Amino acid sequence: MRLVVVCLSVALLVTPTSAQTLPELGDTSGALISPAFERKIGEQAMRDIRRDPSYLDDPELTEYINDLGRRIVAASQEPQQDFEFFMVRDNTVNAFAMPGGFVGVHTGLLLAAQTESELAGVLSHEVAHVTQHHLARMLGKQDQMSIPTLAAVVLGLLAARSRPDITQAVIAGASAASIQSQLNYTRDFEREADRIGFQYLQQAGFDVSGMGTFFERLQKATRLYENNAPAYLRTHPLSTERIADMQGRAQNAVYKQSPDSVEFHLARAKLLAEQGTPREAVAHFSEMVREHRYADEAGARYGLASALARARDFPRAAAEVENVRKLLGPHPMVELLMARIRVDSGNPAAARDVLRSALSRFPNYRPLHYAYVEVLQGMGQHQAALASLGDLVKSYPRDARLYNLQAKSYAASGKRLLHHQALAETYVLQGTLPAAIEQLQLAQKSGDGDFYQLSAVEARLRDLRTLQAEERKNR
Ligand SMILES: [Zn+2]
Repeated sequence: MRLVVVCLSVALLVTPTSAQTLPELGDTSGALISPAFERKIGEQAMRDIRRDPSYLDDPELTEYINDLGRRIVAASQEPQQDFEFFMVRDNTVNAFAMPGGFVGVHTGLLLAAQTESELAGVLSHEVAHVTQHHLARMLGKQDQMSIPTLAAVVLGLLAARSRPDITQAVIAGASAASIQSQLNYTRDFEREADRIGFQYLQQAGFDVSGMGTFFERLQKATRLYENNAPAYLRTHPLSTERIADMQGRAQNAVYKQSPDSVEFHLARAKLLAEQGTPREAVAHFSEMVREHRYADEAGARYGLASALARARDFPRAAAEVENVRKLLGPHPMVELLMARIRVDSGNPAAARDVLRSALSRFPNYRPLHYAYVEVLQGMGQHQAALASLGDLVKSYPRDARLYNLQAKSYAASGKRLLHHQALAETYVLQGTLPAAIEQLQLAQKSGDGDFYQLSAVEARLRDLRTLQAEERKNR
């Protein structure tokens, strides 16, 4: 694995200009941009990120990283703020925060973290960037820029993290040369995110020594690659100083043991089982299990079962899932793996039964619901899928994926109005009002709605147009 990037946000791409005096940090409330406007910038950037092939759309990993993130947010000074954590397929050890509470976590970070507290330490740092409105404060002076332009600047800065040479081009391209001066704030932002993030980590009950040891390990690993390391890392004095600060803080804190969750081990194993060829993954986990080289046996065996499933050795995969069940008892991620094995071996009815019984135990674990609906859809049972989805959207009215699944089953059942209506709600939740309005217009023209359905579409269209007009007014 390439261990290249040690920090964790837009900040480190900037070549430090050490002699320069830093300006005051200013108001932490982010008063220059409203929280609602920050959210809009983040949502706009997310539209592009979700379309990117590196966006990892894995409900179980997403669920895990959000569970962990929520524990930290709950301990933060903005526990009510909406956060969305998501995984990005990238082997560098990194994470990043965007305005409005969108936090991306590289797969390389999850794989490199040896304890859950280490991972939580990095997430805490990112959550602090959001609660301190760092990026928004950097962008705050650019009040003549539109949301799409600001979102493009945010994405450009993120892209530039791994390519410091293009930073200037991005800044020039976004016609925001004054951002350069704003970037000088960033070293202070990093220190603040470390300090505040440490408090969150501690208040959330994690082992606070994890943050420093993780960075230290990464720094050592990076040093091995020193000749290939990007210039900004070699010249950047921050890492050592920041690690020393973190370790100093940890020494003064009361030691608190924080055992890793089962999900931490399962999530890492799931990801690791997807690396390399199926044969390599099987060999890796077989050896791990045979030689007892694991932090957690259930995790290692679950990884082996996942790798065997990838290699299409379904009987052995299913037998290994049985071993994990014996170790862990019922667990939704393990049941989901069993269901995948059943589907892939051509037995969707067995998968449906596995999921049904898992859902009776874990009715609040959403990835089980998604998989259940998808299995029904795969079997052509769209009425049953729609019945399930009808209940689910009542429980989770802000889950875009549910509306998207609904749209699919409506389309397959030939219900055009309902199809467009469900798609419209998907877009609303993804922050894409124009696309949502377009879908509702298509719903109006669909020709297969009754009076009540058409009235509902019309009312919703009016709401969204009002919303759109308001957004144009107050940014
Ligand atoms: Zn940072």
